Amino acid sequence: MMALHTQTLAELASGLAKGDFSSVEITQALLDRIALHNDKLNAFITLTSDAALAAAAQADAARASGSGGVLNGLPIIHKDIFCTRGVKTTCGSKMLDNFISPYDATVVEKLQEAGAVVLGKANMDEFAMGSSNETSYFGPVHNPWDLQCSPGGSSGGSSASVAARFAPAATGTDTGGSIRQPAALTGTVGIKPTYGRVSRYGMIAFASSLDQAGVITRSAEDAAMMLGVMAGFDTRDSTSIDEPVPDYVAALGESVKGLRIGIVRQHFDAGLDAETGARVKESIALLESMGATCVEVDLPNIDMSVPTYYVVAPAECSSNMSRFDGVRFGYRAKDPADLLDLYTRSRGEGFGDEVKRRIMTGTYVLSAGYYDAYYLKAQQVRQLIADDFKNAFADVDVIAGPTAPSPAFKLGDKADDPIAMYLNDIYTIGANLAGLPAISVPCGFVDNLPVGLHLVGPHFAEGTLLRTAHQYQQQSDFHTACPEDFK
Ligand code: GLN
Repeated sequence: MMALHTQTLAELASGLAKGDFSSVEITQALLDRIALHNDKLNAFITLTSDAALAAAAQADAARASGSGGVLNGLPIIHKDIFCTRGVKTTCGSKMLDNFISPYDATVVEKLQEAGAVVLGKANMDEFAMGSSNETSYFGPVHNPWDLQCSPGGSSGGSSASVAARFAPAATGTDTGGSIRQPAALTGTVGIKPTYGRVSRYGMIAFASSLDQAGVITRSAEDAAMMLGVMAGFDTRDSTSIDEPVPDYVAALGESVKGLRIGIVRQHFDAGLDAETGARVKESIALLESMGATCVEVDLPNIDMSVPTYYVVAPAECSSNMSRFDGVRFGYRAKDPADLLDLYTRSRGEGFGDEVKRRIMTGTYVLSAGYYDAYYLKAQQVRQLIADDFKNAFADVDVIAGPTAPSPAFKLGDKADDPIAMYLNDIYTIGANLAGLPAISVPCGFVDNLPVGLHLVGPHFAEGTLLRTAHQYQQQSDFHTACPEDFK
């Protein structure tokens, strides 16, 4: 039998169904593995070992009695941005270091109802602001492919965990690239669905018009299994969309024959590492050999996506972060002299540098004298970018390009240079601004570090993205490679 940690969700599901092993055995094997290897990675903020073993025993009992959901007994990890009832939910911040959530996020609830077993809460950039996991109050996460490198961010604990085979799936969130960029940098699959496809209820807000939950896995098939459970209408999220959830798994088998792939010139310009670009082009050529066709498409305003995002996201962040005031919940400064001192010191001591930078930028672009010049202008450009995508999707089914401009970079390399850090999301941010679904799929290596192929689709084209990624994975084996020290 294949070692349990090497198996995908789909493989574990079939083994459980056949009675080859139990959920308790899987859970114990993965917890042992985490205990052995996590010191090298720092991928977790909280481990929920006892609860996991209890949930696994319950899943085994459900199976024995002929019940249980579609993920019954399968192990997963949650990014620590999702509220989990009775379990510490920190969002990577000192501000919430002592926060025990009184309720579950919808995503957490749905996965639990489907029978998934949660091993723990993954490390992440503070309030999901970052691209390297270095802004976490709990320290950086290391990339299993090279421990000196970043696993990407902000879902770095999720991506590192899946790459290191701690669990076959981990939830993530993506405001500007935080699922796809870490997936690319760790050789995993990461999908960010259409805005509104997955409920944001109980997902701690960063920039509400951009935030969307998704998942990191090793195979597109596993991503389809997870997304099918996570997606769906939720009355508790006013931006949730009331559209039926298709059977993503059932649609994976369809070939890519006739699929029209759009190629955007700006995605392959000087900012892209040459070797990374070569791997991406090879992967597109493979899809062509499988029957897809390539067409050049134009996104005339895409170069404005990073500056637009860095006005809109901080603006929304400054508003969302205002609830952390030391009064209602979260960190409170000791012995405040008066109310103002309580506010300023609680926020000053509770937030890290990057969060403060965003709050200050956001407050500035929303201020009376600058609102029209920055915030309003950014919203207008955002609409132009969304229109560009709409026009492009009149001619193509997906747009393909690199996920990130280079393979994983060394921890510390960009930490003092916010602009260099922000440019990591240059290819991913457009999809968030336009609310579009997008996926990153492992497409090769550069100097032994994985790189990703990025596919963006029109609204609600998750099925097309998952199927294209799955078909690609039938003809390539980059996603099966395991980092040497984690075999
Ligand atoms: N890296 C981007 C930022 O720092 C995106 C983060 C995200 O998607 N959560 O804002």
